[in-house]
Order: sequence, then structure tokens, then C-alpha cells
Amino acid sequence: MCLSCNALLQRSKETSTWIFYKCPSCEYENADLIGEWLPVDEDTHYLFYEIAMKLRSELNISLESAIGLVEEYYSKFTNADYCDSLGINVQDEDFFHSEGIGMVYWIVFFVVEKNVPDYAKFVEWRSKL
Ligand SMILES: [Zn+2]
Repeated sequence: MCLSCNALLQRSKETSTWIFYKCPSCEYENADLIGEWLPVDEDTHYLFYEIAMKLRSELNISLESAIGLVEEYYSKFTNADYCDSLGINVQDEDFFHSEGIGMVYWIVFFVVEKNVPDYAKFVEWRSKL
């Protein structure tokens, strides 16, 4: 059922990992995890899904695209070489939970806008928001 208008959701797409649902009368979307997603625990999956929903509404993109952005973020920031190049520690589940919804900023800066991968610039940009 749609959380915004109570209409019955329609199945819009199925991949090996997700079944996507769309509301026929408004823009609401959600998805059920049916396969292996990121190698993290259930709480962290839930947090990343919340982040994807937030990106979807903030950036006005599909939930599937938003999930793709989360995946790209995860693979970058759990990679030691990438994190070394930024001069930061590899991110882990403790980091994700302490950052919470703030991961949206990391994703917008480092994945969506593909700004120069420069941690100092990120800190400066974020402090102005
Ligand atoms: Zn709806």
C-alpha cells in the first residue's frame, strides 16, 4: 500500500537483488530486498535503504538510481586505496551509524557531483550548508 495516498502499489521492476514497487497515482516508490545487497548487517541495510529513499526525494531520481548511488558510495568508501587518497580512514558500520542520514552529503559530494576527491573541500562545502 502507498504510504502517501493508500493506493495499491504496482510491481514495476525486478532485479536479482530488488523488487521495485510504484504507486499508480502518486510518485511514491519502494523496494523489497530479495537477494544479496551490500555485505553489511541488517541494521546497516536498513540505514542504507533510508539513505536511498532520502536521495530519491532530494534529487528527484528513481529509487533504483538512488540505490545505485548508495552502492557506488559503499564501494568507494570501503576501499582502502580510495580512502588513502583522501587521507581518511576506511569507513565501516560504526562510521555509517554515527553519520546516519549525513551520508547523503558524502554521496552528493563524492558520487553525484563528482567533485574533486578532496576531503578538505568536502569539509568546507559541508560546513556551508
Ligand atoms: Zn500514492
